[in-house]
Amino acid sequence: MPETNAALELVTIPCLADNYAYLLHNAATGDTVLVDAPEAAPIQAALETRGWTLTDIILTHHHFDHVDGLEPLRGSARVIGATQDADRLPPLDLAVAEGETLTICGETAHVYDVSGHTIGHIAIHFPSSRVVFTADSLMALGCGRLFEGTPAQMWDSLQKLRALPDETCVCSGHEYTETNAAFALTIEPENSDLISRAQDVSAARSNGQATVPSMLGVEKRTNPFLRADNADLKAALGMAEADPVDVFAHIRKKRDNF
Ligand code: ZN
Ligand code: FE
Repeated sequence: MPETNAALELVTIPCLADNYAYLLHNAATGDTVLVDAPEAAPIQAALETRGWTLTDIILTHHHFDHVDGLEPLRGSARVIGATQDADRLPPLDLAVAEGETLTICGETAHVYDVSGHTIGHIAIHFPSSRVVFTADSLMALGCGRLFEGTPAQMWDSLQKLRALPDETCVCSGHEYTETNAAFALTIEPENSDLISRAQDVSAARSNGQATVPSMLGVEKRTNPFLRADNADLKAALGMAEADPVDVFAHIRKKRDNF
């Protein structure tokens, strides 16, 4: 796990075939937040092992593989999700929108609208702990498929996340990194940071290790979906003069067919 500088402890929980849920825990207050609930059992086990009780649950978007485990977990926890997605999410205790600031786990957290994969997908940033929960928006070496939004919307969403500090720990929703790396190399075969990251990812996967969380600074240098306005990437695609939205759309379409 990349280091964070705060009191909050981060736990990554593999769920279902390739999903991740996350716990963030404040030892001083005893507060624990869960981000996404793909299935209850592994999350319950992670809580029981540590003797933690959920105080908050953040739902990033309404897809079943992020919410279906909620009911047995919710207890008296405060369930937080997007106002914009509230009609498709399980019942919320707190509906939030872009730009809102919350106190979660005793820390300030900022809400970002990162629509694109779905409309109303949110990301939550904890600046003191330097952690951002991105689920199916920004992913390790990738981004979520555009089920509902346009390329322009997702590119806009990713730019908001890219503006966060390099030392931010990116907690995304799926273990797709090895395929993402193979794809990214087809876009930027000469990117030396990408070449070495792809080797690290393969080594981690052959040892059965998670490739998430990842560091945002590394994503900025290697994730093609964060680099649609990068001169080297554009040149590599023969799109040197193209608008970044068109470059992004081109990369996303190629990834869909990869
Ligand atoms: Zn999803
Ligand atoms: Fe998902």
